[in-house]
Formats: sequence, structure tokens, C-alpha cells
Amino acid sequence: MRPILVMKFGGTSVADPEKIQLAAARAIAARKAGAGVVVVVSAPGEMTDELITLAHRVSKDPDARELDALMATGEQISIALFAIACRDRGVPAISLTGPQAGIYADDRHTRSTITAIKPDKIRAELKAGKIVAVAGFQGLNAKADITTLGRGGSDLSAVALAAVLKAKGCEIFTDVKGVYTADPRIVADARKLPSISYEEMLELAASGAQVMQARSIEVARRFGVRIHVRSAFHEVPGTWIVPAKEIPMEEAVVSSLALDKGEVRLSIVEVPDRPGIAADILARLAERDIPADMIVQSAPTHAGVNDISFMTPRSFAAKAKAALESLAGELKATRVDIHEQVAKVTVVGTGFRRHAKVAARVFGVLAKNGINIQMISTSDLKISCVVDQKHAEPALKALHKAFGLSRGGRR
Ligand code: ADP
Ligand code: ASP
Ligand code: MG
Repeated sequence: MRPILVMKFGGTSVADPEKIQLAAARAIAARKAGAGVVVVVSAPGEMTDELITLAHRVSKDPDARELDALMATGEQISIALFAIACRDRGVPAISLTGPQAGIYADDRHTRSTITAIKPDKIRAELKAGKIVAVAGFQGLNAKADITTLGRGGSDLSAVALAAVLKAKGCEIFTDVKGVYTADPRIVADARKLPSISYEEMLELAASGAQVMQARSIEVARRFGVRIHVRSAFHEVPGTWIVPAKEIPMEEAVVSSLALDKGEVRLSIVEVPDRPGIAADILARLAERDIPADMIVQSAPTHAGVNDISFMTPRSFAAKAKAALESLAGELKATRVDIHEQVAKVTVVGTGFRRHAKVAARVFGVLAKNGINIQMISTSDLKISCVVDQKHAEPALKALHKAFGLSRGGRR
């Protein structure tokens, strides 16, 4: 059988009929070059956002199962149009929804995880010589309901299919030429990285760089899927996401920056300082499936109280506030504060523990620019600072400049 290539086209890359034809032409070229081609497509343009808005116009709190049923329609439009475009060029092709493609997922609606892939039908259609267009972002749960895989989830569909099909490669076609040292829409002189390790890409993605969904990188690392992120519109090499041992070693430790405006900061204020409080708060959040990140506890005051703060995605803000408020009374805390005008700026690299100077430099650059840091968290691979949202872009630009990322930085 032909070696399999998975080609994923994001929303912008299938936003209109001309772009779908362009994407189909690329898939056809890959097939002519000898590959068995599996294409994964996202919903056209901003359709997923539009469908979510539509649901919220019908209900303030749309039912999650039905929201998934609605969102999944976007990708179904793209697969059918993609197959139509291929057939129009005389090339056999077939569209498959996630369930038809054998993609199974758990039942955490709107953010489910792939549990298994049974690619028999995909294999049979490839054997019959067809280009197989699979709907990204969706799977079937054990109750035979459609679920979706979290925003950006078509990346996960593509990587998981590449792993199961033992594809020779996984190409992610998007509206930028690769993975840059920072979001090129914000930092004009951001530089395209020829390669980046799974570990750094995972930090970058988890810290808000939209270009790849974080979970897809975890799967790629686990199964050794080599990803090539590249432009849907220009035939130029993009960025390879590969094991760290394949990345040339150089001196500088900072590789890239990320910005996340998708989170809010919550604080439970003046909680009595006694053992078990942090555990109670986290348990209450976990019970309700609310994610919490950058958990910070202030030192107790002379009055024997402290504040506990954390970050949570904006979409969980109301739920998280309600959960904390229900607890504040029990714990005898003064109140719960929510800060919505915040952003998280993250510096990604390697060996930060050995290079304490990097953190000092990050804080210094922000201070010099008059940017106050509200929260800090560090690890060997990243340094994150929460700042006022109005300082988000200036912080990103100042750090990009200070670390010389447009001139080469690490590589
Ligand atoms: P798609 O619809 O193809 O999945 P996305 O919008 O999800 O595309 O992701 C691509 C976008 O990610 C780019 O347009 C860019 O603005 C943004 N982005 C953020 N950080 C980076 C980065 N470091 N490198 C490249 N793109 C980035
Ligand atoms: N269409 C989905 C979204 O907008 C999935 C994706 O684009 O990867 O999140
Ligand atoms: Mg995406």
C-alpha cells in the first residue's frame, strides 16, 4: 500500500470555494506523488464561533450535547465540499464524519478526548484509491452521541489519525508559514522557527499560542508523530515539530513567546490561614470540573489570613466564581474577586532552572516598561507572568526585542 500522508487544513484554509479548490489541488498533488492521502478539515472560516453565538441567541446556557451536535455541522460542510472539489478534478474522493471514520471519544461534551480510532473504513477507501476527507474536531461517544474535542480540536484529529495509520507524516496547513517566535499578527518581526521540540511546542500551545492545539502535541510526542506546520497558500517549508534530540543545540535558552487573553484571575480574599484550605478550594473546583492554573497563595498577614488566587479559562469564569462564593461562607473568607482585564505572557525555552538570569531579565524588562506583574509561575521550560490586559501586547513586543528573537535568538 502507498505510504499514508495526513494533511490537515484549518478554518482559514477552507474559508471559501476558491480556498477549498486550492486545498484539494494540494491533496491531489500529494496523491500523484505517491501518497495515500487522508485529509482532515476544520469548519470554514469562523463558522464554529458563529454556531456558538447562534446557540447562545437561542439559550443563555445551551445544552452541551446539543451544542456539540450543532458545532459538528461546520466540519461536515468542509468535508463534503472538499470531496466535491476533488471529484470535480477527476480524482476519486470520499467524505467521512468523525463517527464514520471510526473516531471514538469520551462523553465530556465540548471537550472530549479521543478514546480509540478504528480506521477500517478509512483504510478500505484508501485502498480503493480515494482521497479520504475526514471531519476534524469530532468523535462518537459510548452513547452513540457526537462530541467535540475542544477548540482547535482538528489538530488532535489529524495527529491521532496519523498515529493510528502509522502515516509517514502529518502536515498542518494554516494561515501562517509555520510556528514563529511569537504570534506574527502581534509581533511584526517575529521569526519562523525551522524546528521546535514537542516539549517547547506543548508549553507554547498550552500558554495560548493558537497555532497548534496543546493536546495534539501530547499525542504527537507519545506516538512520535512528526508534524510539519506550514502555509496553505505558499509552497515554502514550515516548522517541524520533532523530538528535542533533533533540534540543533545552541547557546540562548529562550525560543519563543506566547500570549493568552483567554483566562481570568479569581481570588478568594482573606481566608483564615490554616491547613487544608487550599485543598478545600481545589477540591471544590475539581468536583465541578473547573480547571485552575497558576495557583498562588499569599503569605499570611498579621491578622492570620491570606489570599488564594488562580487563573481559569474565561468560559469557566461564572462557574468558578459561583463555586468559590459557595465556599467563601464556609471558610469564613471575606469575599471573592474576579479580574477579567488580565493576560498571561509566557516565555518558553529550556533549562530555565539552570539559567536564573532569564527570569531576572523577564521581570526586569517588564519593570523597565512600567508593567506590573500580578502573578508569576516558573518551570524549567517556561516563565509566565499575568499582567493587566492593556499591557499584553507591549509586554510581548518588549520581551521579543530584549531576547533578540527576531535576530536568531536560539536558532
Ligand atoms: P487554523 O484555523 O489553521 O487552525 P488557527 O487560527 O487555529 O489556524 O492558528 C493559526 C494562528 O495562530 C495564526 O494566524 C497566528 O495568529 C496564531 N499564532 C499564535 N501564536 C503563534 C506562533 N507562535 N506562531 C504562529 N502562529 C501563531
Ligand atoms: N472548528 C473547530 C474550532 O474552531 C476546530 C478547529 O478549527 O480545529 O475550534
Ligand atoms: Mg487551529
